[in-house]
Amino acid sequence: MTQALLPAPIANADSTPYWDAARADKLVLPHCRSCGHTFFMPRHQCPQCWSADLEWKQASGRGTVHSFSVVRRASLATFAARTPYVLALIDLEDGPRMMTNIVGEGALDTRIGDAVTVCFEACADGAKLPQFQRKA
Ligand SMILES: [Zn+2]
Repeated sequence: MTQALLPAPIANADSTPYWDAARADKLVLPHCRSCGHTFFMPRHQCPQCWSADLEWKQASGRGTVHSFSVVRRASLATFAARTPYVLALIDLEDGPRMMTNIVGEGALDTRIGDAVTVCFEACADGAKLPQFQRKA
């Protein structure tokens, strides 16, 4: 079944480097030069020490499923054709916990603790969305 492309994410000043990297199939995370904390979501100050001395670091793209839910009834019409799909919290190897989708073969068999790797789903306007897939 062919699915319609998701709409392009709306970037802001804090998240533009994140979305630009995703277009190049790279997962990057904000990293604090002051205290060494790596975090997600992107923001202009470190949530741990409030420093604005930040840089972007490429993430490994590996993580484990902390929790998940199978969405069977879409909250927006845009997502209706994708149901059922898996919404998950991933504990990234790099530290942060990230909300995302588990996609690909066997996604509906997701279990807590599963190893996952990042993949990039094409969206409208050439944008890409970091998603995760279970390791074979
Ligand atoms: Zn910090």
